[in-house]
Amino acid sequence: MFGQENNAYTVAIVGSGFSGTLVATQLLLNAGVQRLRVVLFERAASRFARGLAYGTRCFAHLLNVPAEKMSAFIEDQQHFLRWAERHALNVQEDSFVPRLVYGAYLSDVLDEAEVNAPDGSYLVLHWTRLRPATHERSIDQTSARARLHPPRSTGTRPRHCG
Ligand SMILES: Cc1cc2nc3c(=O)[nH]c(=O)nc-3n(C[C@H](O)[C@H](O)[C@H](O)COP(=O)(O)OP(=O)(O)OC[C@H]3O[C@@H](n4cnc5c(N)ncnc54)[C@H](O)[C@@H]3O)c2cc1C
Repeated sequence: MFGQENNAYTVAIVGSGFSGTLVATQLLLNAGVQRLRVVLFERAASRFARGLAYGTRCFAHLLNVPAEKMSAFIEDQQHFLRWAERHALNVQEDSFVPRLVYGAYLSDVLDEAEVNAPDGSYLVLHWTRLRPATHERSIDQTSARARLHPPRSTGTRPRHCG
């Protein structure tokens, strides 16, 4: 969804899973001179920048793809491995890391994109469930009701796995 406000184009993304998070990341990093307001809607706070697969709280839930193939950037295949090294995680190219660790990576990717976005471009998070237009509620009305900045934890150890 697109719109314009204060000379900045607004791009609304519904869902902050892997796809929505990386679309937001790319928009922020490539905004250039065109100012962008990237609005990311997510219905479940625990899924911000994680989605269904990487929003798990259980360390036993592992990726089914080796670490060397999990970079968020196709042009930088080592990106995830370097992130893991920076965080002193023992991750090899062929490791199958916990999915919640990967969620923390995606969250950091989005945070960094927000920090490195050109002046005038920025990210807005909305914790709300968008409904189809047939429910007769516009996005603006929904957003105004739910101006909540949800917690974006980086994966603390869970007490148990659900
Ligand atoms: C259990 C599981 C394990 C997986 N493991 C791996 C793996 O190891 N490696 C791998 O490469 N792939 C894995 N996948 C596949 C992986 O999920 C996908 O590749 C990718 O994460 C899908 O991302 P997505 O953003 O398209 O969808 P999702 O991650 O499902 O994100 C969609 C988001 O949109 C939100 N949303 C939906 N409707 C609304 C609404 N109306 N309003 C607001 N928010 C809304 C949801 O809450 C959700 O957070 C796994 C998938 C599952 C289910």
